[in-house]
Amino acid sequence: MDKGKVYLVGAGPGDPKLITVRGMEALGRADAVVFDRLAGPQLLNHARADAERIYVGKLPDRHTMKQEEINRLLVDLALQGKNVVRLKGGDPTVFGRVGEEAGLLRENGVEYEIVPGITSAIAVPAYAGIPVTHRDLASSFSVITGHESPDKLDHSIYWDKVTNATGTLVFLMGVAKLDYISEQLMKHGRSADTPVALVQWGTRAEQRTVTGTLGTIVGKVEEAGLTPPAVIVVGDVVRQRETLAWVERKPLFGRRVLVTRARSQASELVARIDELGGEPYEFPVIETRLPTSDEAVANIESALAQAESYDWVMLTSVNGVDYFYRWLDRCGVDIRKFARAKFAAVGPKTAEALAARGVRADLLPESFRAEGLLDSLAGVISPGQSALLPRGDLARETLPKELKEKGVRTVEIDVYETALSAQRDPWLPEMLADGEIHAVTFTSSSTVVNFIRALKELGVDDPVKALDGVDVACIGPVTARTAEEHGLTVTIMPDSYTIDGLVEALAASRSKAKGESFDGISDS
Ligand code: SAH
Repeated sequence: MDKGKVYLVGAGPGDPKLITVRGMEALGRADAVVFDRLAGPQLLNHARADAERIYVGKLPDRHTMKQEEINRLLVDLALQGKNVVRLKGGDPTVFGRVGEEAGLLRENGVEYEIVPGITSAIAVPAYAGIPVTHRDLASSFSVITGHESPDKLDHSIYWDKVTNATGTLVFLMGVAKLDYISEQLMKHGRSADTPVALVQWGTRAEQRTVTGTLGTIVGKVEEAGLTPPAVIVVGDVVRQRETLAWVERKPLFGRRVLVTRARSQASELVARIDELGGEPYEFPVIETRLPTSDEAVANIESALAQAESYDWVMLTSVNGVDYFYRWLDRCGVDIRKFARAKFAAVGPKTAEALAARGVRADLLPESFRAEGLLDSLAGVISPGQSALLPRGDLARETLPKELKEKGVRTVEIDVYETALSAQRDPWLPEMLADGEIHAVTFTSSSTVVNFIRALKELGVDDPVKALDGVDVACIGPVTARTAEEHGLTVTIMPDSYTIDGLVEALAASRSKAKGESFDGISDS
């Protein structure tokens, strides 16, 4: 068997978008991904669905896997012929023990690549508005380990040289030794007024910054209760933050927002949350797929065989449009067979999806709910006409029922099925318990129902209680009603029932909570 290859990939400091294109490509091809909690579980969404996911971080019932065991694991996987991605926080060569991993691979004749990443030493200060160099303030910087673990001493740090070697000093793994570090720096000639910043959980929703001086920082960090992981920056560049701080200014800063939509549909919502400075967390609970039952398939085939007979084709969602066209293709039906029919599209996105396929909708109901379609149909559709309704299996019954009552011959076809998504993210229950999810978004009733089911499957006995304190944002009244029927308290609902509306409502609720000023910049 051929040996596999191992990619030692820098995952960046936390924000999953801060991985390199090369790293992302390797991840997308890997047969196995070895990761820990810092090198973002969200990045795993980009691995193949069938890729093996191996967690080597801390678990409640187990210590972190020892470095030697990880080294061995990488070799073993490669010897099984697998292409492996080892995701590492920040850059793999900066305090990342990549030398040991690559060393053992080399000894075993396994091919490897080191894919650099964005180190927290630079990225985390940047997200706090602190450039590590500056034309007038610092022409050089050092990255130094604070050796956080108490069993290690700092014999390798020559404080007399390090202290004044460069303008800016960046310490990683230094929070537990902040006291000692600031003492050494002052002892070796840095003034007690030298600005210092600690940036905790940089680039993530929890990002928090405490600033002070070498003389005051220990007290301030204690007062703020700041804990690792954090990057410590020492030097005049820290003052730049007063003018350059930027992430804190975004409307959704500090908010991790759960996205429960099917992954295939989530991209717009995810992008909007991200744009507004929130951290989208994808937890797709539904997926759509072609119907599988013989009956459903036969039903579609016979309905499409009569394409020429319909007066109306009514589409109620983007999915409906996508899958309708997939069936046209599968059944070999040309869209021009519907030349007689008028097209109705509920909602602007549905109309756009249709327009992208060259069909301009004749009727665009004002309301986004299926009832709105009926109101606008009142004057234009007459008894005796026929309508084709390509929809999902969970579509509501209101529209076909009322059409039939009006004497319209209505043919419903379930062009897609909605299923509980198979992909599961085991971290979510813990994140909810730790208050790391700030809002959850529901874009349809089935996302509500399946989310509750998914949480139960992950061992959460009382999903409603688990969501205590989490903002529940629903796209519209129908979804909100379902959420309330399940015992949830809906706190956010937009005026216009669209993704844009939903994200705006999230941002508006956030700025209300923040009041006039934004937090974070007047540092604690
Ligand atoms: N290879 C990593 C560093 C590993 S050492 C890199 O290049 O970034 C781990 C230390 O990195 C932590 O103790 C902390 O000091 C720092 N660190 C990593 N990610 C961080 C983050 N998102 N926010 C603050 N500090 C971080």
